[in-house]
Amino acid sequence: MRSAVVVGAGIGGLAAAGALARSGWQVTLLERADRIRVDKAALLVWPNGLRALRALGLHAGLSAIATPVRHGGVRRPDGQWLAQPGVDPAREADLPVVVHREDLHDTLVAGLGADIEIHTGVAVRSVRANAGERPAVSDGRTTWEADLVVGADGIDSMVRRRLAPESLAVSAGCTAWRAVIPWYRAPRLPEDQPVGGETLGAGYRFIAASLGERGSSGGSVRGGIYWIATATGAPRPEPPATQLVLLRRWFAGWHAPIGELLAATDPEDVVQHAVRELRPLPRGYGFPAGTGGFVLLGDAAHAMPHHLGQGACLAFEDAATLATVVHDAVPGEALRSAVDAYNRVRRPRAARIVRQTRRMGAVVQARGRLALRARDAALGSLSPRLLDRAATTAASWRPPRR
Ligand SMILES: Cc1cc2nc3c(=O)[nH]c(=O)nc-3n(C[C@H](O)[C@H](O)[C@H](O)COP(=O)(O)OP(=O)(O)OC[C@H]3O[C@@H](n4cnc5c(N)ncnc54)[C@H](O)[C@@H]3O)c2cc1C
Repeated sequence: MRSAVVVGAGIGGLAAAGALARSGWQVTLLERADRIRVDKAALLVWPNGLRALRALGLHAGLSAIATPVRHGGVRRPDGQWLAQPGVDPAREADLPVVVHREDLHDTLVAGLGADIEIHTGVAVRSVRANAGERPAVSDGRTTWEADLVVGADGIDSMVRRRLAPESLAVSAGCTAWRAVIPWYRAPRLPEDQPVGGETLGAGYRFIAASLGERGSSGGSVRGGIYWIATATGAPRPEPPATQLVLLRRWFAGWHAPIGELLAATDPEDVVQHAVRELRPLPRGYGFPAGTGGFVLLGDAAHAMPHHLGQGACLAFEDAATLATVVHDAVPGEALRSAVDAYNRVRRPRAARIVRQTRRMGAVVQARGRLALRARDAALGSLSPRLLDRAATTAASWRPPRR
């Protein structure tokens, strides 16, 4: 039986491990943390991510937990539109959905099936990637050998450090805060103030999306309002309650309902992230070795700022592509070629999204009067070009055929 070791049980590793196991691979999943868990925020999943989840066979579970983000558009802090929300019903299929990370996580865990060997509390420390030997990883005590090793161990990936040491995780120059306000605490907003869309100010950005009313009756699906705030600069060392005070101050005077949402947020709802990215991107995502080789997947391969909300979507694309290219490959030359094929398909795709993300980052993080005026003009005149082009790139992805 073909064997795979997946390093890292984040969103990407769970998706890849489940997909390989469902197509007959013997899968071992190694996770550094003492249990498989996820943070309590939410996530936007764009049509490419949804298509990848469908290709992975996980879409049915997702439809019960996902809410379409209908009220998009881009505004200035005073509420003036820079880019009106799309109203074309024909483009409904291009809308992202918002899902609670815990619900998504439950869906991915359910997709693992019963046959995967899972080891938690295992931090991979070394990687054996020699031409003539089977790929292997070790935590210093145990060595796991396999035909295929999937490095899904996030932005500080140990697997990537061995295979593509030129790629470093660096600060993207901004910090993000995310929260889900549970439904029972969410502010009741007037009909003409739907939650949704994004707002850009001088080096600050605020995005909100409604997860709906679910969860209000104790169901397992989590409802509420998701928001994400971004500010240029380093993470704040203060405790969450003080960070929340700062956020309320930074976003004071921004159009409704931003103030109401921050007021309804409790410190324990808030998660702070130092936003980082890989520079340069790894030279490759597939490294043939032994009877198969190594692949990099998810943030291990292409961690990028969250400006286009594409990191996890690309991880799902990676997993769907990997499952397809290795589907019929037997260990030996065929599997090494499949590893090469994964690299050829995924590296240019990720590089393109990263370029678009950086362009968006330049807009989001523009500070100073001149830069701001240029940004307003760019967003006003380039709209829908910049954001739409990114959405189109995302929407146009199709899973590869076997
Ligand atoms: C603020 C913010 C907002 C975002 N919003 C969106 C969005 O709306 N839509 C979207 O698509 N994406 C979004 N993203 C990106 C998305 O969250 C990430 O791309 C995605 O979670 C990456 O998943 P992953 O599985 O590749 O990595 P991770 O989630 O980092 O998982 C890596 C796993 O590997 C484990 N691990 C690490 N090292 C080792 C080791 N040596 N041995 C064993 N295990 C190890 C870790 O414990 C972890 O469980 C956002 C990111 C941020 C920061």
